[in-house]
Amino acid sequence: MTGKELQEELTWEFPHIGKKAPQQVEQAAKFCEGYKQFLNQGKTERECVKAAVEMLKKAGYTPFDEGRTYQPGEKAYYVNREKAIIATTFGSHPVREGVRLNGAHIDSPRLDLKPNPMYEKDDIALFKTHYYGGIRKYQWATVPLAMHGVMIKKSGEMVELNLGENPDDPVFCVTDLLPHLSAEQNERKLKDGIKGEELNIVIGSIPYVDDEKLKEPVKLMALKLLNERYGITESDFMRAEIEFVPAQKACDVGLDRSLVGSYGQDDRVCAYTALMAEIDTKAPDYTTVTILTDKEEIGSEGNTGLNSNYVRDYVTYLAEMEGSNPKEVFRNSICLSSDVNAAFDPTFSSVYDPRNSSYINKGCVLTKYTGARGKSGSSDASAELMAKVIAMMDKEGVYWQIGELGAVDAGGGGTIAKFVASMNIDVVDLGVPILSMHAPFELASKLDVWNTYLAFKAFYKN
Ligand code: MN
Ligand code: MN
Repeated sequence: MTGKELQEELTWEFPHIGKKAPQQVEQAAKFCEGYKQFLNQGKTERECVKAAVEMLKKAGYTPFDEGRTYQPGEKAYYVNREKAIIATTFGSHPVREGVRLNGAHIDSPRLDLKPNPMYEKDDIALFKTHYYGGIRKYQWATVPLAMHGVMIKKSGEMVELNLGENPDDPVFCVTDLLPHLSAEQNERKLKDGIKGEELNIVIGSIPYVDDEKLKEPVKLMALKLLNERYGITESDFMRAEIEFVPAQKACDVGLDRSLVGSYGQDDRVCAYTALMAEIDTKAPDYTTVTILTDKEEIGSEGNTGLNSNYVRDYVTYLAEMEGSNPKEVFRNSICLSSDVNAAFDPTFSSVYDPRNSSYINKGCVLTKYTGARGKSGSSDASAELMAKVIAMMDKEGVYWQIGELGAVDAGGGGTIAKFVASMNIDVVDLGVPILSMHAPFELASKLDVWNTYLAFKAFYKN
């Protein structure tokens, strides 16, 4: 045996899909047209749930009814408080043998309005915000923003806000200093380039004019315009969830159009691929439980996040329907915690271990553990589970790779995996490598998006 043959037999490298399977470039591009549409349609968790319900209904799913039983191949969905959703295709095996869970999150970092957000200062009307999730605050200034959300009026009527998305809508913006006057600001640490209380959004600059001298006439004008558009008053902001997100639409990036650029790809890229794989799964052996959850970006807290009982309760219903012990179902189940990972960025290579990083165009990334400082806060998947998931993907010809979230002690992060693990379910992270994660404009490779969809299909099939 030559050294080269020996090398081929004994060593391993993940291939570039563009080299190994160039025919996938076109398939991936086609698949991502629907993905971009989903990104534009769902810029908040509520909007994603709405989009998902629409897609599921069209595919024959009906609202989940725990009072009945389902036949293999039947499809149902369950909505949790308009901000999280579970979809199921019933399998031919009893759920006692375990279900296939796939959990992605549909919340993304953004600027939320404070409960009393409106003020006027020096003839400009502004909104105060409190950022949601991990953002690099300086990235969010001078970016056109759109207003999304809901408000409950005193009468109980719900108003949906969506302003800044249509071509003739106005947008909103956080300001930053000009370079000519930023000498002092330049001395700040990057993390304080824009501070939390400086993330103020400009909403107007024309005053309401009449004969009397009015206090805060610019704020009044902004309120008047909001009232005309939505019938709301200032106190309604206390009964609201208003989120400001980048107004930019999803688009192709690069001369070869190989990448999707968009806000919110963490983690709507896994949400979309999971949803499509769920819909395309027709007669599985094991019952599927596709979860699009909320609140991952703030630690999965709250009753729409994975650190609540809603998924546990749903699986318990599945068990009770067939008269099985839920504990047995949990113990026999497998879950993909489907979330993005940091793609190796050649411009900032020092924070990565090149041998243990995920790369764009090498497929979906299997992440054995996340966490920080010695895997702390992570659910470290077992060798047995790694073997099982890798075998499923290999069997279906999926391009996949492994990856850690950056070099040891360079930072770290978490996903829903540990909350799934706490239900006594085998769980591992799998998702898409992302460049500029959590920025107003993130990048993902279309080939990776496509192979993540294929991985989810393989997971539901095997
Ligand atoms: Mn994520
Ligand atoms: Mn994230």
